[in-house]
Amino acid sequence: MKESLKQIVGDEYITDDSAICYSYSRDQHWNFVPAKSPACVVMPGTREEVREILLFANKNRIPVIPWSTGINVRGLTIPVHDNSILLDLSRLNRIIEINEEMMTATVEPAVTFGMLMAATDKFKLRPAFPDAPLTVSVLANNYLRGIYQTSSADGHDHTLSFEMILPNGEIIKTGSRAFSDDMPYFRYGVGPDIAGMMAASPGTWGVVTELTLKLYPVYDLQQAYFVGFDTVEDSMEFIRNINRDELVESCRLLDHHSYITGLFGTFDYDYEKLPEFVACILVAGIDGIFQAKDTLVRDHIGKSVGVLLDIPEKLRTHFREETLAGSEKSCMVFGVRGNYHCIGIYGPLTHVPAYWELHKKAAADAGIPADHVYFYVNPIGRFHGQLCYVELDIFYDGADPDLGKKIQEYNRIQFPRLLDAGIYGWFRPYAGIIEPTLDRIGYQAELWKKFMEFADPNHIMNPGKLF
Ligand SMILES: Cc1cc2nc3c(=O)[nH]c(=O)nc-3n(C[C@H](O)[C@H](O)[C@H](O)COP(=O)(O)OP(=O)(O)OC[C@H]3O[C@@H](n4cnc5c(N)ncnc54)[C@H](O)[C@@H]3O)c2cc1C
Repeated sequence: MKESLKQIVGDEYITDDSAICYSYSRDQHWNFVPAKSPACVVMPGTREEVREILLFANKNRIPVIPWSTGINVRGLTIPVHDNSILLDLSRLNRIIEINEEMMTATVEPAVTFGMLMAATDKFKLRPAFPDAPLTVSVLANNYLRGIYQTSSADGHDHTLSFEMILPNGEIIKTGSRAFSDDMPYFRYGVGPDIAGMMAASPGTWGVVTELTLKLYPVYDLQQAYFVGFDTVEDSMEFIRNINRDELVESCRLLDHHSYITGLFGTFDYDYEKLPEFVACILVAGIDGIFQAKDTLVRDHIGKSVGVLLDIPEKLRTHFREETLAGSEKSCMVFGVRGNYHCIGIYGPLTHVPAYWELHKKAAADAGIPADHVYFYVNPIGRFHGQLCYVELDIFYDGADPDLGKKIQEYNRIQFPRLLDAGIYGWFRPYAGIIEPTLDRIGYQAELWKKFMEFADPNHIMNPGKLF
């Protein structure tokens, strides 16, 4: 295998060195996904090389795991089978186009949010930005349908089109890109929405080599508010109102400890005195519209049962910058107890109080201390469906094997309970969560498998991660 791959990428860009391979063998999800090294790591420098590697692997039935920046937290790039090829795409790192007029960016797999935001900044544009480290791949994140902290106003769909190479060497171009690489700007093109169908299936169809995403304006006029609530229920009406009237750029409901302390870093602020839940909102817009929105938001705050928190200006600025410009926050989640476990779900705002109760109950049932239990809500859909992203978090000491077992137990009991309570979907499909879900989605599961079979009949694309 090594010799054949060497002929494709050259001597320098393939290795089976056990220390290097081992570095790809685990991620933060180690309580659920056993460590396993790939047989080799290959770093193609061009799309043609990607294609040749796939053709070789397909012919020889060798598993291939696409890897863009490897930041994922669900074990999605950890091999399941022996003899796997880890396809490290970090040499494909070009920003192909930033189109100011179309408000789009076209990127290769290893372009990170940090790189893209540095480039879009001068146009006063930004991508939708996830609550993730700046070192995350824009392409992988968008292809996997990420969650974006700026998404209140941006909505949920940010991918316009992409190019994907299938194991048989065929190149799929979605939406208007099918006609020409020079026109990647329209999602739906002709016929079915192929981009939608292939998205959120971690590396299991083929390799995405280029993706075009939406960019959004950055406004100079911005105002951040922090509104404290004692209960989740109390915050819901307020959030519903400001979202319904499309008043805010960003809206997040955070528990007072984990995220607030993490988000605001080490600012000198007495976090203990905060109400249990804090809605962090950002109003932004052009002159005239901004003032009108700001007045209405203040009005909604006044009418709510929430308390407008007096947050130091430095902290407020920090929040604005994080929300619209992004920042390196991997320390955020790990700072509290060193490790972070989360179940991310989509569901309606109406269900959020129930999700919070289920979270506390499952944690108690699994023997996890109450002070390890946190959550975070990112309301996205303004009206239809009231879409929210809800993160049920446990921050824990990863060196404690007993807690690791309890977290496994938490997942085991929590997945079916959440499905029973009603969710729109999981943040991302991955091993463990997909099994209890498949029987509940009827023939859709069969169809999904059939389409995947069609694209990857030899099951070489990240096998074992979904089905
Ligand atoms: C602290 C922290 C906080 C986070 N918060 C958020 C958040 O708020 N919102 C959010 O959306 N995400 C969040 N994430 C998750 C993370 O941003 C995404 O999972 C990430 O974008 C995917 O990781 P990656 O880009 O490094 O892709 P990788 O880890 O390289 O790959 C992830 C999966 O996609 C597949 N894949 C990668 N590249 C390709 C490709 N080119 N073609 C086909 N398949 C491919 C891989 O095989 C794998 O299955 C967070 C992560 C961390 C560590």
